[in-house]
Amino acid sequence: MHRHPGEDCADTNSQTVPGSDGRTIELEVAILSKNQALAERNRDWFVGRGVFAINLMGGPGAGKTTLLERSISELQGVVSISVVEGDQATARDAERIRAAGASAIQINTGAGCHLDAQMLAGAVERLQPLAGSVLIIENVGNLVCPALFDLGEAARVVIFSVTEGEDKPLKYPHMFRAADVLVLSKIDLLPYLHVELAQMIDNALRINPKLQVFAVSAESGQGLDSWYGWVRRRGQHATIVKSAA
Ligand code: MG
Repeated sequence: MHRHPGEDCADTNSQTVPGSDGRTIELEVAILSKNQALAERNRDWFVGRGVFAINLMGGPGAGKTTLLERSISELQGVVSISVVEGDQATARDAERIRAAGASAIQINTGAGCHLDAQMLAGAVERLQPLAGSVLIIENVGNLVCPALFDLGEAARVVIFSVTEGEDKPLKYPHMFRAADVLVLSKIDLLPYLHVELAQMIDNALRINPKLQVFAVSAESGQGLDSWYGWVRRRGQHATIVKSAA
């Protein structure tokens, strides 16, 4: 890490906190503002085409791909869905999405912990989502970095499973604050766990009172109709905005 001459000289006991260095912060600001400009270009493109873009975020194993598989097959003929998959490695999820009946492009981020607007632009150019369709971007699995990077989406959905524990919204507030929708997944497992669904929802709403919450199980199908209803309504709205423009 770069240090400015003279910095912290007076206090040899002070600790170096990552990101506390002036230059590190400047670089972060530059990266984020470049990303923001590209995200706005993506957003204009989606709006102009009436594509409803969802940024789907959540920890590894929260059930992101499983929710998508079931949504794609049950909304077939009702909503046209295509998917951009983000993972550090493998094309497994894109293959699962194609097997479920939707087109998909896989992005591998290597050491990277999130997708950015430039990666998305490249994937969308290849994917060419249809006018009036829904594009779902499954971000790299974690509750930290994806919250920082706008991709140009119209809605941010965080998916969080009941097996992850009641306290996660309090421990990872940025992700829950940045989201429009919370999908609480795997509720079919509740009888086997010592967690309270109401407490989980309450913790999430303490961080972000505006969150729209869907408690679902992609296994039993419980709660999925409300989630599908939201996807359909927002998808139709994107088409209306486009035709009014
Ligand atoms: Mg996945």
